[in-house]
Amino acid sequence: MKKLFLVTAALAAAVAVLVGVTSPPRRLTLAAPTDGTVPGIIHVHTNRSDGLSGPDEIAAAAARVGLKFIVFTDHGDATRRPDPPQYRSGVLCLDAVEISTSGGHYIAMDMPASPYPLAGEARDVVEDVRRLGGLGIVAHPDSPKSELKWREWTAPFDGVELLNPDTAWRLWLDEARASATRWSARRRLTFALFDYPFRSSEVIASLIQPSQAVMNWESATRRRRVVAIAGVDAHAKIAPRNADPGDSRFALPFPGYEPSFRVLSVHVRTDRPLSGANAPADAATLMRAIRGGHLYTAVDAVATPPSFEFIASNEHGTVHAGDELGVGGPITLRVRSNAPPDFTTVIWKGAAVLSGDHHEPEFSVGTTGEPAVYWVEIRATGRPNPLTWIRSNAIYVRGASDVPTPAPRPASTVREAIYDGQTAQGWRTEHDPTSVVAVEAAPIAGGADLRFRYGLAGGALVGQVAALVHDTAQGIEPHDRLTVSIRAEHAMRISVQLRGGADGGAQPRWQRSIYVDTVLQDHTIFFDTMLPVGPTETVRPDPSRIRGVLFVVDATNTKPGDSGRVWIRRAALEH
Ligand SMILES: [Zn+2]
Ligand SMILES: [Zn+2]
Repeated sequence: MKKLFLVTAALAAAVAVLVGVTSPPRRLTLAAPTDGTVPGIIHVHTNRSDGLSGPDEIAAAAARVGLKFIVFTDHGDATRRPDPPQYRSGVLCLDAVEISTSGGHYIAMDMPASPYPLAGEARDVVEDVRRLGGLGIVAHPDSPKSELKWREWTAPFDGVELLNPDTAWRLWLDEARASATRWSARRRLTFALFDYPFRSSEVIASLIQPSQAVMNWESATRRRRVVAIAGVDAHAKIAPRNADPGDSRFALPFPGYEPSFRVLSVHVRTDRPLSGANAPADAATLMRAIRGGHLYTAVDAVATPPSFEFIASNEHGTVHAGDELGVGGPITLRVRSNAPPDFTTVIWKGAAVLSGDHHEPEFSVGTTGEPAVYWVEIRATGRPNPLTWIRSNAIYVRGASDVPTPAPRPASTVREAIYDGQTAQGWRTEHDPTSVVAVEAAPIAGGADLRFRYGLAGGALVGQVAALVHDTAQGIEPHDRLTVSIRAEHAMRISVQLRGGADGGAQPRWQRSIYVDTVLQDHTIFFDTMLPVGPTETVRPDPSRIRGVLFVVDATNTKPGDSGRVWIRRAALEH
């Protein structure tokens, strides 16, 4: 008995020593004069998609951590009507969606249901979310998994997650498999797993690596306001590699919601206090502030609760982070925080450090008045694993004329109609064995519209496709664009495609998807904006080798079982 006790005591002592040696520092508890911001979290998965628990249980975990709001972001195509905002356990719960595009994942918040599935190219999903009035946020841009990493940095996204602990795990797992980093990464992960039961959130935070996406965000801020935010990407489980989203069979219940919620938080500066009772009104207040970039992110597993403010003034007045300030004379930037003295506050001017080594709780920096974007980072220095503790949104000093706009394309001078305005001659259809499609001329005053009717087979995805085809046996040189006036029975997306090659041989295709409204709209599709559909020899289509122009309806943006009509009034190749 005594022996057993001694062995147990020795083991416990050994574990304590090992945890003490290997684990990251315990979070610092700060005396916080509250800064009036509303703490919360975005990017949480429930059991509606690949999360472990339901909204009530998750909200209760958020309440225990002291959060005031959470944003659920279950995977979907945005056709599900979001649940109305609701208070659960005193936590304001918003319902958003995480959309899988071919260029990465995109979170759409504050948006009604989409009339058609949002999917396909990232640039199209970004455009659709914007048209539907949503706030679109690039999720986990740094993910090492190629289908999760964001690749469409030129699209006009509204915000970006500059911190996502799920990405941190994946980066370390990848390093543990790579030969150069295998042993150091495995040692790090082994310690992390060992220490996790004792200091869960600190362990998760200790694995966070510097975000590569910060510079992508910075470069986007030169053209428009872009919300910098953090997502926890909480699922309360880790799915094995290669598991389908939603497949929970082999998942580990780890890291839990509560430890994840203690890692980081988003602090929103609302223009009025939340009532705590009227969920729709509070949601509107919160979303107005998030859309305005009136927020900062903090890694609470390092030090909490945070208190932070970043303002700028010049002769036009004073603004907060997230705002624009007109150009007018010298600028004073002021930062106030409760950062511990060994942390380092850095003010950035675009991609360069303006003022880099501050340890005071409050300070001002004067700077010249030309157009620029300023933002603040407080780094948790003076500890083994320095990382960014607080990240502000940007202050944009500029006027409307200071934003570079791309030069418009030259107008076309030559136009070759591919629809004669009278008959369906030169047009035919293609479809898979399960779908139906027809084309005919539908008379209107003074001519006819080219009418295209389609019906995709319902049920499982079997490659449903219905296409309107115009053959171009001689190629389409020297044209560089296609123009079309088109409308549809209900709002939808149609993939305009160019197809090369001969019948029977390889038929490479390139596409540009267009939004087709119920009212007639003109579209111009430049061939050099088209992207390959599947494997092609060249990234861009070669007009001399194009054998067909196609208008394609498929299951990317049309639900199986859906049918409808599309009218084309004019279609032409131009240059
Ligand atoms: Zn995702
Ligand atoms: Zn996610």
